[in-house]
Amino acid sequence: MDLREQARKLRQELVQFRRDLHRHPELGMQEVRTSRKVREALQGLGLEIRHPVANTGVVALLRGRSPSPVVALRADMDALPIQDRKEVPYASQVPGVMHACGHDGHTTILVGVARILAGMRDRLPGSVKFIFQPAEEGPGGALPMIEEGALRDPDVDWIVGLHLSPELPVGKVAVRYGVAGAAADAFRLVVTGAGGHGAAPHRAVDAIAVSAQCIAALQTLVSREVNPTDPVVITVGTIHGGYRHNVIADRVVMEGTIRTLDRSVRDGIPERMRRLLGGVAEAMRARIELEVERGYPPLVNDERVAAAVRRSAEKILGPDKVEVLDRPTMGAEDFAYFLERVPGCFFRLGGGNEEKGIIHPGHHPEYDFDEEALVVGVAVMSQVVLDLLGEGV
Ligand SMILES: [Zn+2]
Ligand SMILES: [Zn+2]
Repeated sequence: MDLREQARKLRQELVQFRRDLHRHPELGMQEVRTSRKVREALQGLGLEIRHPVANTGVVALLRGRSPSPVVALRADMDALPIQDRKEVPYASQVPGVMHACGHDGHTTILVGVARILAGMRDRLPGSVKFIFQPAEEGPGGALPMIEEGALRDPDVDWIVGLHLSPELPVGKVAVRYGVAGAAADAFRLVVTGAGGHGAAPHRAVDAIAVSAQCIAALQTLVSREVNPTDPVVITVGTIHGGYRHNVIADRVVMEGTIRTLDRSVRDGIPERMRRLLGGVAEAMRARIELEVERGYPPLVNDERVAAAVRRSAEKILGPDKVEVLDRPTMGAEDFAYFLERVPGCFFRLGGGNEEKGIIHPGHHPEYDFDEEALVVGVAVMSQVVLDLLGEGV
C-alpha cells in the first residue's frame, strides 16, 4: 500500500487526535497533558521513549533493521495566549489559550508518521527519532532539548520539520533552499529625560520628543547603515510613557524586535543601536539604556536535504504541488537551533482553503487549517524518512 493510502486510512484517528489537542491547548513549558497524550498515542508501537526531556518534551526512537543512519523529525506542542473565536465543535475549551499556529497539527502529524513507520520497521534501513518539543513560541524548547541530549544516543544524521502555512493551499508543500528564516532578538530601550510642566519645556527634557527621534533614527539605521541586500527589520512593538496632557514625561520605555538573516549583520546591530540612540539622546540632553536579548538564530536549511525533501514531496504530491520558495521569511523558529547542529530542512505544509473559509493567518483568533493537511503531512514526512534512510542526500 502506498504511503498516501496508508496516511488516508489514519485520517479519522488523526482528526480526532488533533481536535482533542485543539480543545485542550497548553502554553509553552506547560504541555503536560499534550505530552501525555503523545506518549499514550505512541504506546505499543515498540518505540523507545524518553521523557521528560526539557520539561514536557518527548524523544521517541524507532529502531529499524539497521541502527543507522538516523533521521530525526520534530514537532512543537505549545499553544498561544489567544482567545479562540472560532465557532467549531473543537474550539479551545481553555479561556485565553489557543492553538493559533497549527502546532496541534504538527504534533498529530508526527504521531501519524510514527504509526506508519513502526508498521514497516523490519524494512527500515535506519532509525527514526521523533522529537516533540515544548515552547516554540517562547521561551524556546529546542535548545533545552538539545542540551538534554535529544540529538545524541544515537546521533542524528539529518533532521526535518514542518510548519503549517495558512497562505499555502492544502495539498501543497513549499521548500526553501538555504536561509529560510530570520534571527529574532528582543530589545528594551529606556529613554530618560527630566519631567516638568507641559507649558515650560525649556525647564524639562521631554522623553517623548526624544523617543520620537529615536524611533525615526532606528529606521535610518536600517536604511542607511546596513547593506540593502541584507534584510533587517527593527520594529518598536510597545511604547509607554507620560502621565497627563500637561506634564512632560521624564521616562519612556520601548520594546521591540530585531530581525536579521545574516549572522555578522545580526552581531553588529546592538552596537549600532547603542551608538546611534546614545547620540540622539545626548544631543537632546537625555540618556538611554538599551538591553538586547538574543533570541532564535537564523534558520538555514541544508541545500541537499532541502532537495531531498522536495523530491520526496514530489513523489507524493506531484511536481506541480511542490513550490520552491524564492525568498526567506523574517519570521523566526527555534528549529533553527537543530539546524545549527545537524543538516536538515524545515518546510511549509499547505493548510489554507479559501473555499472553506480557512483564510486566517497564524496567531489570528480564528486561525484554523484544513485537516486534509494532516494526511498530506503524514504521507510526505513518511516518504522523506524512507528516502533519506534509503538513499541519503
Ligand atoms: Zn507561531
Ligand atoms: Zn508556529
